[in-house]
Amino acid sequence: MSRQSVTVLGSTGSIGASTLDVMARHPERYQAHALTGHRRIDVLAGQCLAHWPARAVVADAAAVDALDGLTRSAYVKAGRRLQIDHGVRALCEVAGEADTVMAAIVGAAGLLPTLAAARAGRRVLLANKEALVMAGPLFMQVVREHGATLLPIDSEHNAIFQCMPVGGRPSGADVLRIVLTASGGPFRTVPVEQLASVTPDQACAHPNWAMGRKISVDSATMMNKGLEVIEAHWLFGLAPADIEVLIHPQSVIHSLVAYRDGSMLAQLGNPDMRTPIAHALAYPERIDAGVAPLDLVQVARLSFERPDLQRFPCLGLAYAALAAGGSAAALLNAANEVAVEAFLGQTVGYMDIPRIVEQTINAIAVTAPSSLEDVIAADDAARRVARGIVRSLSSRTGLPA
Ligand code: NAD
Ligand code: MG
Repeated sequence: MSRQSVTVLGSTGSIGASTLDVMARHPERYQAHALTGHRRIDVLAGQCLAHWPARAVVADAAAVDALDGLTRSAYVKAGRRLQIDHGVRALCEVAGEADTVMAAIVGAAGLLPTLAAARAGRRVLLANKEALVMAGPLFMQVVREHGATLLPIDSEHNAIFQCMPVGGRPSGADVLRIVLTASGGPFRTVPVEQLASVTPDQACAHPNWAMGRKISVDSATMMNKGLEVIEAHWLFGLAPADIEVLIHPQSVIHSLVAYRDGSMLAQLGNPDMRTPIAHALAYPERIDAGVAPLDLVQVARLSFERPDLQRFPCLGLAYAALAAGGSAAALLNAANEVAVEAFLGQTVGYMDIPRIVEQTINAIAVTAPSSLEDVIAADDAARRVARGIVRSLSSRTGLPA
């Protein structure tokens, strides 16, 4: 069997590291082609020396020199060569070169490289949900036209994919609806009036999953689930009314599909992203992921509740953006990225996040993007407006902008 070459976009992140962990368990199947990271060059260097990719991409020229310094002698000793580049163009290049591309850059920064992988007709493992939220119709069109294989990594979407008929899409009217499960995050039971004063570290302390800081805050606000509703709409072609969200604090059922004969199919497992990653890497085969089997007796109880939109206004904002269509989801995503960054930088408070998102969407007319440039223009406009709101909020509270 010839080995699959794999580019891991965002290899230094949480999903990236889990991907390399699964690949390392199967050296006869997977070979790293390129690894990319933005800031943690020491981590990236360690990954290069463990996986020997031919290419690496970093943020800027200084990072190129730093990575070169950390890897050159080991590569020379091993008789290998590492080509190190920086910037978006290089990210798009390495995304187009491998058999399989793990799209695990966080946020809008992942859009162009992920699209490049789809345009090159690759097998695209999609963790970077923001790319699909921003540019859903365009993204799916590129996947279709260029014969790419799109496999969802988000645990909910991967679960739904596994519970769908072969091919991962509903056939005819058989599928009535899907249910996305959500843990409810760290503030599920915290009194609403205390939320205004929670800190970034509290927001990032997720009860069940260890993830990057941006998605951890999104999980606390449930914007993550909102982005996932939009992601599910584009991946599975279901109407918003047929995409339900339920809070399931144990994070054992990763999502469900309801069929017209009364069947409900669910995918269960321990909350460990290596399961969906291994599923997508090996699909349609199954490989060991290093994940312990689920002990149902120890889990004992599975509970469900409806999300409270007073506590989680971001979820309502995301459904509204999906209903509005056009550029609305790109505006939502960009405003959320700015708001979360400001919250993580302690410039605004936690409850300012939905405020910034809502005010940004209300301030900008929704358009119907017909090109990538239109999507990027909407993203830019939303960032400008959201940053203005951050400045006015921080000057009011005396926090640094
Ligand atoms: P993370 O913050 O741990 O890692 C992000 C990666 O992106 C890093 O490698 C970083 O270097 C890179 N990066 C950041 N900014 C960049 C930029 N401007 N240009 C190029 N690279 C950049 O994030 P994560 O938790 O691994 O999440 C990655 C993606 O996967 C996100 O879209 C997230 O929503 C999605 N996802 C994550 C999980 C999870 O369990 N962590 C689950 C489902 C979906
Ligand atoms: Mg998810």
